[in-house]
Amino acid sequence: MKIMSINAGSSSLKFSLFNMDNNKVLLSGLFERIGIEGSCYTLKYDEYKIKQEEDIKSHSDAVKILMDKLIELGIVNNLEEIDGIGHRIVHGGAIYKESVVVTDKVLDDIIALSDLAPLHNPAHAMCIKAFKEVLPNTPMVAVFDTAFHQTIEKDRYLYAVPYSWYEDYQVRKYGAHGTSHRYVSLKLKEELKRDDLNIICCHLGNGGSITAIKNGKCIDTSMGFTPHAGIMMGTRSGDIDVSMVPYVMEKEGKSAGEIMNDLNKKSGFLGVSGLSSDSRDIEDGVKEGNERCILAQKMYVNSVVKYIAQYYVLLGKVDVIAFTAGIGENSISTRSDIIEKLTCLGIELDAEANNTRGKFAKISAKNSSVDVYVVPTNEELMIAQDTLNLINR
Ligand code: ADP
Repeated sequence: MKIMSINAGSSSLKFSLFNMDNNKVLLSGLFERIGIEGSCYTLKYDEYKIKQEEDIKSHSDAVKILMDKLIELGIVNNLEEIDGIGHRIVHGGAIYKESVVVTDKVLDDIIALSDLAPLHNPAHAMCIKAFKEVLPNTPMVAVFDTAFHQTIEKDRYLYAVPYSWYEDYQVRKYGAHGTSHRYVSLKLKEELKRDDLNIICCHLGNGGSITAIKNGKCIDTSMGFTPHAGIMMGTRSGDIDVSMVPYVMEKEGKSAGEIMNDLNKKSGFLGVSGLSSDSRDIEDGVKEGNERCILAQKMYVNSVVKYIAQYYVLLGKVDVIAFTAGIGENSISTRSDIIEKLTCLGIELDAEANNTRGKFAKISAKNSSVDVYVVPTNEELMIAQDTLNLINR
């Protein structure tokens, strides 16, 4: 069976077509700058890579080009060979607790939830409609980034603010990266052959979040009402005291939107180091003795350790600490800096085992009180698997 996994942004469309018999990617790629000057697409298959500049006015255009290319490159003989399409949806609000087949009602809900994800949900809806035009009979599935966190109890998802904010405006914790946390949790269950694992999952990418997972269910996560909350990130501040917002607004004569932009795009590694949002540049800066990079790295590690410690207590007994996403999978020194701060809990790395990048591996020492793993995430495959399961049902 062949399943297409889609991740659409406001001006981009990322896709992977999987052969579900062996989980292999047949074709993957990215359409960029949709509706903006300089639009282009990249396609990857076997050992080939094609990059093409082309006028792509809408998501609909991108989908049509993609369909033509699938035939032209001989990836499929006809479009009916595509058995299903899975869409990553950033926000499912409190409505969607798991993936669902896309119906008119689901599409309406995705649009209605745009208030909570104004940059993403409208783009997802646009993309679903574009696929409907070209493949009207192919089943589609919506995979929500927030769904995995819907098992969090009310005393953990609520903020201590006027209750009417929750009742009237749905202000509460929703979390993000749910598809990645779920993938990691399922991968560990499969590899360790255990259903009863308590996991602290650290998704450390450009965005980052940490999740406490008990027996496969999320019981808390570091991101909040929006992906802004939680640990320090590439360009986001993570948790802050909100009083600084009106204070700096007044000092700099900025609007709330401008300050949010500073907190979203100019903070985190970039804000503190003044150099870069990329952890590799920060690592280089640390090696060169750059003080602001050293400070940024220390602050990053502190923020991650704070959540691990919190979830260690919440879970009571932890079986696995998992590292995933760009930094988690690849940054040997960041993993080492984090675990070093957990020595008081009897958690220890095996330096040699930790010398690994991008591969599933146990990296803790033999006598560590908690096993530590690197688990490469695969959100695209998770979306494709959900799609397959739902269309087979
Ligand atoms: P996102 O999906 O949120 O855009 P990624 O999961 O791709 O982010 O992670 C991006 C981060 O991963 C960047 O900070 C980058 O520096 C880091 N990263 C990627 N490869 C490496 C590496 N080899 N060593 C250290 N950090 C890495």
